[in-house]
Amino acid sequence: MCIKKINKIEFINNVKKIKARVHSIETFGAVDGPGIRFVLFLQGCHLRCLYCHNPDSWDLNSGNEVSLKNILKNIMAYKKFYKKGGVTISGGEPLLQHEFLFEFLDALNMLGFHSAIDTNGFIDLKYSQKCIDRANMLLLDIKELEEEDCIELTGYSNKNTLKTLQYCQSINKEVWIRYVCVPNYTLKNEKLHKLGNLLKDYSCVKKVDLIPFHQLGSYKYKDLNIAYKLESSPTPSTEQMQNAKEIINGYGLQT
Ligand code: SF4
Repeated sequence: MCIKKINKIEFINNVKKIKARVHSIETFGAVDGPGIRFVLFLQGCHLRCLYCHNPDSWDLNSGNEVSLKNILKNIMAYKKFYKKGGVTISGGEPLLQHEFLFEFLDALNMLGFHSAIDTNGFIDLKYSQKCIDRANMLLLDIKELEEEDCIELTGYSNKNTLKTLQYCQSINKEVWIRYVCVPNYTLKNEKLHKLGNLLKDYSCVKKVDLIPFHQLGSYKYKDLNIAYKLESSPTPSTEQMQNAKEIINGYGLQT
């Protein structure tokens, strides 16, 4: 339920005094959910995806501390752009800061903004569930369906991600899946068929975003003095991405 326009400033001035560790903010996001969106990138991630282009987002103690009130004021300054879009909370892994996220989502609901959590789904549901319940939708990364390959690619099991997906199905929460296509890792026909075959049974999944691996973040590894295993990995060709789309579309899924 939206509160009346006249009360919004008062509402923001009285929100809970809670702060987030923020990596960065994008005020005109066009690729992180439907429409034009305010995208809040929270600091901290426990995974170590080989293809991560934001290794500077990993350290939970880095970034800037920003109050909920100031973040909401920032959103309100651009609110006319978000009428057909909304607000996406990304990272890093935003659910690591689930206490902040819970308050933030409540405030967004009160102010009438559509909300999306962009998550890797690795956080246990006992922490993430209350946030998922409050968001309008999830952008959920499926990194790998093969357990061993997932551990090699990210350092962790995919079990919680699959539980998160099942939970979204059980409450009919809209999900857009994100799958990064990395040649010689995730971009293999049998893996794409396995993904399509799994997702076809989830009516909560409205879209599958196939994201081509890129090298745009490679300089950050040098700057941070972190080893980058995919330094010489190729990016997918247009034909490879088209083939991947066709496989997923073949299971009746939108890409
Ligand atoms: S989940 Fe996202 S932020 Fe975390 S390591 Fe993987 S790609 Fe990077």
